[in-house]
Amino acid sequence: MVRVDRAKPGADTFKREDVAESGRAEEDLQETKELFGVLVESALTGIYLIQDDRFRYVNPAAAKMFGYTAAEMMNNLSPLDVVHPADRPLVQENLRRRIDGEFVEAHYQFRGLRKDGSSFSVLVQSRSIQLAGKIGVMGTLVDNSDIQRAMDKLRESEAKSEEMQRLAHVGWWEADFRTERMSLSEEVCRSFGVQPDDLPAWRGRWLELVHPEDRARAAEAAAASVRGGPRLDVEYRVVRPDGAVRIVHIRGNVTRDGSGRPLRHFGVLQDITELRRAEDELRASEERFRALVQFSFDVYWETDAEHRFIRQEYVRDLADTPAPGAEIGKTRWEVPYLEPDEEAWRRHRETLDAHLPFRDFELVRPTPDGGRRYVSVSGLPVFDQAGRFVGYRGVGRSTTAQKRAQEALREMQAQVRRLVEANIIGIETWHVDGRILEANDAYLRILGYSREDLVSGLLRWPDLTPPESLDISFARFEEVKRTGIWQTHQKEYFRKDGSRVPVLIGATLLDEERGVSFVVDLTEQKRAEDALREAQMQLAHANRLETMGQLTASIAHEVNQPIAATMTNAQTALRWLSFDPPNMDGAREALDNIVRDAARAGDVVHRIRNLTRRARTPHDRLEINAAVQEVIELTHTEAMRNGVSVRTELAEGLPPVRGDRVELQQVVLNLILNAVEAMSGMSEGPRELRIATSKTDAGDILVAVSDSGPGLAPAVQENLFKAFHTTKPNGLGLGLSICRSIVESHGGRLWASANAPRGAVFQFTLPV
Ligand code: ADP
Repeated sequence: MVRVDRAKPGADTFKREDVAESGRAEEDLQETKELFGVLVESALTGIYLIQDDRFRYVNPAAAKMFGYTAAEMMNNLSPLDVVHPADRPLVQENLRRRIDGEFVEAHYQFRGLRKDGSSFSVLVQSRSIQLAGKIGVMGTLVDNSDIQRAMDKLRESEAKSEEMQRLAHVGWWEADFRTERMSLSEEVCRSFGVQPDDLPAWRGRWLELVHPEDRARAAEAAAASVRGGPRLDVEYRVVRPDGAVRIVHIRGNVTRDGSGRPLRHFGVLQDITELRRAEDELRASEERFRALVQFSFDVYWETDAEHRFIRQEYVRDLADTPAPGAEIGKTRWEVPYLEPDEEAWRRHRETLDAHLPFRDFELVRPTPDGGRRYVSVSGLPVFDQAGRFVGYRGVGRSTTAQKRAQEALREMQAQVRRLVEANIIGIETWHVDGRILEANDAYLRILGYSREDLVSGLLRWPDLTPPESLDISFARFEEVKRTGIWQTHQKEYFRKDGSRVPVLIGATLLDEERGVSFVVDLTEQKRAEDALREAQMQLAHANRLETMGQLTASIAHEVNQPIAATMTNAQTALRWLSFDPPNMDGAREALDNIVRDAARAGDVVHRIRNLTRRARTPHDRLEINAAVQEVIELTHTEAMRNGVSVRTELAEGLPPVRGDRVELQQVVLNLILNAVEAMSGMSEGPRELRIATSKTDAGDILVAVSDSGPGLAPAVQENLFKAFHTTKPNGLGLGLSICRSIVESHGGRLWASANAPRGAVFQFTLPV
């Protein structure tokens, strides 16, 4: 310990006790004193001595530090006077403990308080000393402000770096292979969702946090870079313990010792989740935009400030597009065009030069095959951030198909007009409220009205329509509104003279309330139909007569028989009456027989008369079995004459059918006679005729006539129902064709097939 006599400031204040005798020693001492004085006084470090709570000594550097002169401080100021109030307890405590001898040396930092009130950081290194029997504290002071500032700056820059890492989602990580220690920056911890305390287990754990699908790849990349392979540069997904998925990009470098052993693996991690999400969002939005453009337009384009194309993106699969790039660098009007004219182009360019938006600018380009390509273009001006015009951006649509459709429509309209004006069919447009709005001459002619009648508003279609078909007209109108289809139907119109005209009418709606009708006059057709029906009837009648002709012999027999019996019975009666007394009972019996036979003959004649009648009978409800039975009776003799046995199987409880009795009987008669005739030519085998009625699964009546004749040769079967097809020398070949038209006019079907074991079956159905 240095012992100091007195604490008098100045260069000459120190004196060593044990050097006192010789002058030489005096001189040396003097020199040393001066040397120390100079050193202390000129030291850059502040030096002080405190005793009795006062600065006993401060060197100039110390005084300057606090903004005082040494004189101002020495013996005047207490050490606490130059300490920032907040640090005074700290300093005081330090001084006290030294003076109390608790410890000797101290090394600490406090905030100094300058004379002008400002504060600064002071580093103090001090120790307690014994001087002139008194404990004091001496030490050195260093202005720490610069270092403090540097430290603050460092801390600030560290904080900034942390903040930057957080904002940029960048972090660092380091693995020390010697100590097995792992260090992670905060951002890395955040990305993986781990706490810094988890770190000891980190090296074994991080792979578990990598998405299972990316795990093998991530592990391999890390292992490869440690082995000396490529630098670690890998992107993978992290599944945080809380389940959230992050995407990270890792890059790292391995440092090695001289022998190539890895020492350290240091790298950075960038959390690119948001980036990827933003990219995905951007891509999705671009796809949405693209889809929108693709579905709405055929081309997206951009032009520069001079209106030259810099970009063109055509929808795929679009016909007629120019070769890719062919129009780049050219203005719209430098690409060959057919339309519009110069004036329209001038106006378009005016718009462009004024940097105004434009919409549906239409132009026509020539196509290589000499055709026309119609295009409609719209564009918006684009300005940069400084507001300078940089070009246009817009879309285009190929309107060729639309134009063609328009032309086709125009052509169609022209055709419709020609159709209207040709006056082949009547055409009217009408309002659902009853007005006839327009009509062509043919329409007026059919109805016998004049154009003046039409103009006067006299014509209303409900007045022209007979009451019984008004409902049908309204129903058709509702139907066309619902289905869009107007079923053509026949109806009648009242003509101006009150007579009726049959028409065929078809219509379609023009809008909610108006429609157009096409009217064909059916007068001629009706007349022709009537004539045809008449001819058919006469033909059928002729056929009946012919068929009956075949029965002449049988019918003669049928009629002759009761007449002959009558003769016999009359003679018998006469004989009974000639007895005396007359045998009245016998005579009565004979007379009864006469009455019965006469009735039988009458029946036959009645039926024949019916069948040979010309007139059409109205369609009535009739029992099919009764009608068939009558025919069988009529042909009974004919069958017997030809050695044919007849079997009937008539189903009971059949519902009545609606039809013309005579016509249906004609069919059965024809089929029976054909069968009998077919069998009559046979030299051997049984001759069996079977007539059956039944009900089909569909509920129709079925009548079948089967024979055991030669059957139908294929060539015959094909033409069976054609008129004038016959294999008989005297045949007309009309029977079956008439039968078929009769059955079909009753809504039924007639057909022939083979019978087993031989022969043919003819059967027909009739709806109930
Ligand atoms: P037609 O009796 O005047 O010849 P049809 O139209 O009644 O006229 O008959 C046409 C042809 O059909 C007959 O010539 C005959 O060859 C054939 N045909 C009709 N019915 C039978 C049948 N049951 N068996 C065999 N062939 C038949």
